[in-house]
Amino acid sequence: MIDAHKTPDPLGGLSTRQLRTRRRRLTGRLPDWEGYLAGSLVEQHRRCGKEGCRCARGELHGPYVYLSVGRARGGRGLVYVPETLARLVRRRVTLSEQAQRLLAEISAINLELLARRELE
Ligand SMILES: [Zn+2]
Repeated sequence: MIDAHKTPDPLGGLSTRQLRTRRRRLTGRLPDWEGYLAGSLVEQHRRCGKEGCRCARGELHGPYVYLSVGRARGGRGLVYVPETLARLVRRRVTLSEQAQRLLAEISAINLELLARRELE
C-alpha cells in the first residue's frame, strides 16, 4: 500500500554499494576550497546626497554589488564588491552554494549509512 503522506526517501531505496558510489561521485564534484566564499550577493541603488544630483530626483546611483555575510557567522554584514571583482565574486559564491548542497547530500548519505551500521 502506498502511503501518500509519507515523503519518499530516495536514499533508502539505494543499496549500500550504490550509496558509496554516489558519495564518491559527489565528493569528486566538490570545488577548489581555496575559492570558498560563503554569502549572498545583493544589489543596491544609492543616493549620494549631493545637492542637485540626479539621485535627488529619484534617479539613484548603481546598482552597487554587496556580499551579504551574516554577522552571526562572523561576517561584517554587507561587504562592498568593486565592479571589477563582481564577476569573480559571483562565480565564487555560486560555486560555494553548490559545495554546500553537495556537502549536505554527502552528509545525508553518511546518515543513511550510519542508520544501516555501514558507516566506515
Ligand atoms: Zn547622486
